[in-house]
Amino acid sequence: MDVGANQRLSRYARHLVLARVGEAGQRKLAKANVLVVGAGGLGSAVLLYLAAAGVGTEGELGIADSDVLEESNLQRQVAHRQSDIGRPKVESAADTVKAINPALKVRTWPVRVDPQTAPKLVEGYDVVVDAMDNIAGRLALNDACVAAGVPMVHGAATAWSGQAMTVVPGSGGPCYRCLFGGMSDDGLGPFAPRQAGVLSTVPGAVGCIEATEALKLILGASHEELLVGRLLVWDAWRMKFCEVAVEADSQCLCRRGRQ
Ligand SMILES: [Zn+2]
Repeated sequence: MDVGANQRLSRYARHLVLARVGEAGQRKLAKANVLVVGAGGLGSAVLLYLAAAGVGTEGELGIADSDVLEESNLQRQVAHRQSDIGRPKVESAADTVKAINPALKVRTWPVRVDPQTAPKLVEGYDVVVDAMDNIAGRLALNDACVAAGVPMVHGAATAWSGQAMTVVPGSGGPCYRCLFGGMSDDGLGPFAPRQAGVLSTVPGAVGCIEATEALKLILGASHEELLVGRLLVWDAWRMKFCEVAVEADSQCLCRRGRQ
């Protein structure tokens, strides 16, 4: 047995004995190409756990974010350190995930997501994780994922609440645009995180849910086992989770050519 194999046995021992993962599953995680869009509060949790789980050690872990780290980010964006203030978030997040798992193949995209950049960004990835903070970016990412047939895990957090849903193009389930296509950032008003604030742990918990969905997508979970057609909503103050059943909008671009 080569050194690499021995290392894998020890590093991923709790995965190797775990039902639904095992050696074959761990190999799938290693070979996966996953893009995390947003290296803020949600993205920090997603990245730390995907890195620890070995996602992208033989594939690629992509990190996209166009922001520079500000002091006010550190209250919740745990992939960054005080000494990273002023650095591009993709760089400090890449340093952190490589410190967790030096075997990772990390690619950074210091790019703002819009309808022009999104198609190129998602190209070649097996799973995309939406860890952004604005609806316009999410819609652009969603549309690119739908067009390319790439599954996308959506998550959002503001104030004391969070939500998550998984979009699998071609599954018959809804996409992000089916739910929020009619909304704009302007319409968010006082609910935008900058105005409403956000508890430090809320994006972290939602990010863990998103990372879990990403791992399950790679491991081959069925649509029923994923958050396909189910918007998970979390009220952290009352500590209640609820699910909203969501159907695909027959007029949405994700349904075009399917009628
Ligand atoms: Zn749709």
